[in-house]
Parts: sequence; C-alpha cells; structure tokens
Amino acid sequence: MQQDDIRTRMVKFYARGDRHVTINATQGHFATSQSHINYYIDVTRLKVRVSEAEEAARSLRQKLLHNVETVDTIVCLDGTEVLGAFLGQELEKGDFRMTNKHETMYVVEPEENSIHQFMFRENIRPSIEGKNILLLVATMTTGETVKKSLECIEYYGGIIQGVAAIFSTTTDIDGTKVYPLFDQEDLPGYATYAPHECPFCKQGTPLEAMVNAYGYSKL
Ligand SMILES: [Zn+2]
Repeated sequence: MQQDDIRTRMVKFYARGDRHVTINATQGHFATSQSHINYYIDVTRLKVRVSEAEEAARSLRQKLLHNVETVDTIVCLDGTEVLGAFLGQELEKGDFRMTNKHETMYVVEPEENSIHQFMFRENIRPSIEGKNILLLVATMTTGETVKKSLECIEYYGGIIQGVAAIFSTTTDIDGTKVYPLFDQEDLPGYATYAPHECPFCKQGTPLEAMVNAYGYSKL
C-alpha cells in the first residue's frame, strides 16, 4: 500500500487557551471548491471521537458564553452532529436561554438536494421556523458554504444567532458573528488564495489533494 504522506506529515496544533483541544494539519498545496490553501486542516478527531467532541463542546460553550444568549436549535454542517449533540448538552446547562417548549435543544442537519441546495423537509421545519439558530461548521475558509446555509436557514424562517466553528479565518460573515475554536493565528503562515493568484500554481507546484470539511482526496 502506498504511504499517505499527507497523514504522515500531519502536525498537532493546540487551541489557544485550551490545551485539551487539538486539531491536525499538514502544510502543502491543496484546493477547496473555492480556493487554494497552504494547509490541510483535519478536524476528524473532534467530530468522531466522543471524548474529544465532548471537550471541544465545553470549549465552544466558553466562546459562546455572553456572546450568544438564546439557542433553540443547532444546525450542523460538515458532519458535526456528534459535536453538535454535546454542544446542545453544554448549552442546556444554564446561562443560555431557550424558547423551546420542552426545555431541550434541537440538533439538526440540512439535506442537500440534487442541485446542491440546502433544504429542510416538513418534519424538520418546526425546529427552524421562528427558532433561534446556532450554525455549527467544521472548517470555514472562504465562507461560501456557510453563506449558502445561512440563507437557507433564513428562508425557512430561522433567526440566526451566530456561527460556531472548529476552524475559521473570519469572525464575521455578512454581519453574523463567528466563534471559532481555532483561527489562522493557531496555524502559523496559514494562507488562502484565489486559484488564479495561487503562488504554488505560479511556481508549477502540483496540487496534492482536493479538500473539504469532510477530508481530502489525493490527486
Ligand atoms: Zn494553487
């Protein structure tokens, strides 16, 4: 079996202010659907390992505290449902308000239809319409997918209270606040380029992989 050097080159990075929360990242030349980047960020552990998801949820709660007041529903993107469930549990512990009747939070994910639009079916809509929504995403670089999902939530009548992210390069997206566990300061030299301005492409360095918030596919 061919050795996967993207995995072997991975380095562990610690969250500023919470050494219990870590992500992996590999430096190189990668493409997302919108941009070229010099780091592949791997947040898999925080999404799929119960103890790490729990720790990340605790840490996210601290970021949201005193910033987001009311959350009825967490909308999960990028396969963040496990983290979303723990985050819901953390936010139910007090200090956050809720308008839901049974004093419990909803954790949902949008469905992507055949033309790549996000949608919520009838059975899920009561957890969106008129509800205070926290959007949870894995990694955000250009923010195009996040913008698309915020529009979708608003279309279904949700009231957006903020975006929680494992990694984000921005703390504001069209006026909506973003609360990331990690930002580009945690990854020294992190850079994102428009594909036609990418310095690696200009040097003739080949792309190593296509990446998204779920992972990477080598080229
Ligand atoms: Zn490039």
